[in-house]
Amino acid sequence: MLTLLFFWDYDTQWGADRSRLGGAKNWGHLEFPNTDRLIDIHAEYDLPACFAVVGAAAFPGERPYHDPDQIRRLHAAGHEIASHSFKHEWLPALNAKALRETLRQSKDALEQCIGAEVRSFVPPFDMPMDYPAKLALNLTERREVKTERTDLPHLCEALAETGYQFCRVSYRPFYIRGLEKLLARRLFDRPSALEKIAGLTCLRTNMPPGFASLDILHRLAGQSGYIIVYGHPHHLSTDKVEGEKYLIPMLKRIRQLRDEGKLQVALPHQLLKISRH
Ligand SMILES: [Zn+2]
Repeated sequence: MLTLLFFWDYDTQWGADRSRLGGAKNWGHLEFPNTDRLIDIHAEYDLPACFAVVGAAAFPGERPYHDPDQIRRLHAAGHEIASHSFKHEWLPALNAKALRETLRQSKDALEQCIGAEVRSFVPPFDMPMDYPAKLALNLTERREVKTERTDLPHLCEALAETGYQFCRVSYRPFYIRGLEKLLARRLFDRPSALEKIAGLTCLRTNMPPGFASLDILHRLAGQSGYIIVYGHPHHLSTDKVEGEKYLIPMLKRIRQLRDEGKLQVALPHQLLKISRH
């Protein structure tokens, strides 16, 4: 059966400050009311999600940088809390020491906040994507970072070392990227399989961000493998594909497919139990 994983990348103002498209933004404050709304919506559709949270947001302090109570509410509502680094760093530019620091600090801050183990990780900006062994060569990462670059296997190695067990990944072999450009369509809209990278359990994104891809969801339902749906809470109140007007029809469709037995919903930490047997 198709297993769906639902992620929200909870960036807060830490993420807005580090936006790579045209410099710092000011949408951080939207994360909090929109996340409160998401807690209600997900409860209504009985759908648990994984919230990938920047660790610094779990420290005591004011919005738009901190809200430990909201992170605890997410956890209490049955959602998984994953790490999204400490301050939404662009990981390819970190050396081995700085990388381990952000991974440790983030895990620590979140675990102290919710009083439970944090086992999953979502890289900010979905990078690094560079994974030469799978012919995934990311030119931006290579151009911008000349020495001590963190590529995907290095990230996974550091994650395993610092106690994580799962990572959402987004690498694409270069010939697939080229073909996608040439054909102007995506070729990865098919179920993913769990894979090990440097010993860590990983799952590759396979849908465009947001909730406009009902046709893909419908086509994949009933197949076996995994599908990843994801968005950002700060977009919920917008007209974009991560907004509520796209989210609700997708949640209705997920509920319908689940009722028909064509799809099940899981959290990343539940896959680890499965993959151990
Ligand atoms: Zn992010």
